[in-house]
Amino acid sequence: MPLAIEPAGHNWAGSYHYRAAGAARPRSLAALQEAVVGSDRVKALGSRHSFSDIADSDGLLLDLSSMPTQIDIDSASKTVVVPGSLRYGDVASYVNARGWALRNLASLPHISVAGSIATGTHGSGDQHGVLGTSVAALDIVTAAGELVHLARGDRDFDGAVVSLGALGIVTNVTLDIEPTFDIWQRVYAGPSFDVLVDDFDSISASGYSVSIFTDWRGNAAQSSWVKSRTSDGAAAGSLLGTGMTAQIHMIDGQPEENTTPQLGLPGPWHERLPHFRLGFTPSAGDEIQSEYLLAREQAGSSIEAMRSIAHRLADTLLISEIRTVARDDLWLSPASGRDTIALHFTWRRDPEALARLLPAVEDLLLPLGARPHWGKVFVTSSLRSLYPSFDDFRALTSRIDPNGKFRNTFMDRVGL
Ligand SMILES: Cc1cc2nc3c(=O)[nH]c(=O)nc-3n(C[C@H](O)[C@H](O)[C@H](O)COP(=O)(O)OP(=O)(O)OC[C@H]3O[C@@H](n4cnc5c(N)ncnc54)[C@H](O)[C@@H]3O)c2cc1C
Repeated sequence: MPLAIEPAGHNWAGSYHYRAAGAARPRSLAALQEAVVGSDRVKALGSRHSFSDIADSDGLLLDLSSMPTQIDIDSASKTVVVPGSLRYGDVASYVNARGWALRNLASLPHISVAGSIATGTHGSGDQHGVLGTSVAALDIVTAAGELVHLARGDRDFDGAVVSLGALGIVTNVTLDIEPTFDIWQRVYAGPSFDVLVDDFDSISASGYSVSIFTDWRGNAAQSSWVKSRTSDGAAAGSLLGTGMTAQIHMIDGQPEENTTPQLGLPGPWHERLPHFRLGFTPSAGDEIQSEYLLAREQAGSSIEAMRSIAHRLADTLLISEIRTVARDDLWLSPASGRDTIALHFTWRRDPEALARLLPAVEDLLLPLGARPHWGKVFVTSSLRSLYPSFDDFRALTSRIDPNGKFRNTFMDRVGL
């Protein structure tokens, strides 16, 4: 039976309206395969948290949220098989209740697993790669409707994790797990920019996961959020500034109850590693985001570059976040081949202002080798020289999807 077609709708922030003819919700693998085979152009939709046309299609969008939701833990191999459409938060609660953990999470648990790994989504931590580095295997429905299993070590695997949805529809994702652990989160009123620039390595090594929030103005960052495993003991040093004595939100005026517990209160990993609580609005909501990821050696130069235009950003910027990501071998990962510093921007939802500001930001960061986050808003389309395996990915998509069923305007624009 043909699937009912709904209006394609818009992304989570309401900042992008999908141009696809409509969206369908298959309820089984067979219905999904039939929809793929029967469409000239089709794209999977995750939880709609990207800020651009990356998930859009000239044809049909497939929303997998009505597919079966079975999760299977394999204690022997320390892996869990999850439907790609599930939110990280739901997977996290399930595995934690059975004594297991994922290594790291992004700032929010509301995003789908398949959509997140497809865009190189990451959390923070010197020792943590993008979320896709925890992927052990993928099940993908290809353009021909075949279900293909790709596992770590397979020829195409490193190209298929951060896929921009271009290789097919990911049905199941196998993720690495480890025994559950507790985290405490403490927030500090700093550090000063002098310390941040001169001693970036000490700052970013202050915990299991460290985030610095700043509007780039003044002499110090607004806050640093340090998440540490309770088993690691000591609190972060005084380099970060004074410890906060009340729970805060990183964006002025937003409710602090939307954020995960701070003040050093220990709790399970999945209720501390994200900044935001499942069931509450993450970030500001009415916003647009951008992010640029650079080699870690560029920490000082890139921070000073953004400070130099802080006054221009001020009216449009809600907050910036500085994070670190460990290098990996995934072809289109923003941390591919290099330990990384990530400079994130949460903007007011003002596209006209961004059309003026983003070129100024990119004029400073692109010469330093910045790679834009695939799921956020950027202007440049000159990405080829930034990824050693860019052409390999193009060859992979041509081989697996020769008629361009999963291509879209976004891919044309960035030359993939
Ligand atoms: C409030 C907020 C906070 C954020 N915080 C972070 C953060 O901490 N770190 C970070 O790196 N990013 C962050 N992001 C960005 C976000 O993680 C990415 O945009 C991510 O892609 C969102 O996943 P999604 O499920 O919404 O994907 P969508 O936006 O729905 O889709 C993104 C891409 O994934 C593809 N895709 C989705 N599902 C499938 C599937 N089943 N098979 C194949 N392809 C698929 C789509 O086709 C598309 O190309 C944040 C975004 C928001 C709104």
